Amino acid sequence: MKFVCMAVIAAVFVYQLILNLVDLKSADRPIPEGVKDIYDPQTYRKWRCYKRDQVLADLMFSAAETAVTLLLLGLNVYAEIAAAVGDHVCWAALGTPGLYLAVDTVLGTARAYVNTMVIEEKYGFNKTGLPLFVKDRIKSLLLSVLLIGGLLTLFIRLHLLLGSAILPVFAALLMAILLTVMVLYPFFSKISNKFEPLEEGELKAKLTALMTSHGYTVKSIEVMKASERTTRSNGYFAGAGKTKTIVLYDNLLGAMDADEIVAVFAHEMGHGLHRDTLKLQGLNLLNVILVVLSMMLLVNGGPLYAAFGFEGINYGFAFLLLTYLVMPFVGIVMGLIVNACSRRAEYRADGQAVAEGYGTALIGALKTLAREDLADLAPARLLVLLTYSHPPLADRIRQIENKLQARSGKT
Ligand SMILES: [Zn+2]
Repeated sequence: MKFVCMAVIAAVFVYQLILNLVDLKSADRPIPEGVKDIYDPQTYRKWRCYKRDQVLADLMFSAAETAVTLLLLGLNVYAEIAAAVGDHVCWAALGTPGLYLAVDTVLGTARAYVNTMVIEEKYGFNKTGLPLFVKDRIKSLLLSVLLIGGLLTLFIRLHLLLGSAILPVFAALLMAILLTVMVLYPFFSKISNKFEPLEEGELKAKLTALMTSHGYTVKSIEVMKASERTTRSNGYFAGAGKTKTIVLYDNLLGAMDADEIVAVFAHEMGHGLHRDTLKLQGLNLLNVILVVLSMMLLVNGGPLYAAFGFEGINYGFAFLLLTYLVMPFVGIVMGLIVNACSRRAEYRADGQAVAEGYGTALIGALKTLAREDLADLAPARLLVLLTYSHPPLADRIRQIENKLQARSGKT
């Protein structure tokens, strides 16, 4: 049992290691023809070097973290901490996460320090001074203590109270939290941002025509003042059913012309027409169910705890196995499925924009967005297959051009 657990943790690390090595190797791949004009070559080369340093640092720290985790598990250190802390169920539960948090704080801080203060500094991207860095770290530590402590205490209380009925209760609780966040998001965005109605003109007319031609009612088109907070341009639909409010970031108006903006929304409408968000939501639900099921196995797995030197169930240790073992493993497997579905949905949504007559404009819009994100223009095939939720830009442009050609062939 112990061996299987440790083997899975090691396998997850090896998987990440392979991805990182492939990523490093792909750094010198040439930029594909269709996307050569996006960045100036010097900036792109500098950015690739920056990414390479980041991946290397990441590799080092992941190796260190995995080594420490395996060592602590292999030597049953967690059981000894739990025994030293005392017998009461809550104390025993908090002793093991305490060690976890200590290790995580030391290695996590070192990782963040190297990333922000060394690598980003070297390339001139760093805007964080040392005091702010320390403040951010303390904040995130306090948040972890509160979150882990709170959730664990809640779970233990519920488990003692409900016994095995806890599975549906905890799953329902998690879903309720997720749904509340989803429902409240537009509300929060409404109160924390300034909105203005989009002025009359070409853009408004075209957006309305696009939506109404597919049976949607446009309630209003709002421009959100996002430029104070982010340089990224974005836009989304809000509202349930066929009545939509269209929200544009004000950056979008500066970065793209009217047709390009309409093209972005034609793509988003494509997602809506194919119910892509709903389907991905369904897959996320499956993810939650898988995690909850494994929690149940963990809670009932008596021999598992004995294998690591505990006398009975230890909730804190169950939490550790959840974060070290179950979540990374489920994450990788589900990620493969979700990403493959998402990439297909992206091509289909691009196709919608082409069908509406905005194919060429969409290419322009995608290039602008890629420039903002500093997207990798030539990622390795394997990396795309395993980890990309969106197809690489060059592939999307090629597909759009193919569809444009097919259209012009028909007429
Ligand atoms: Zn999309």
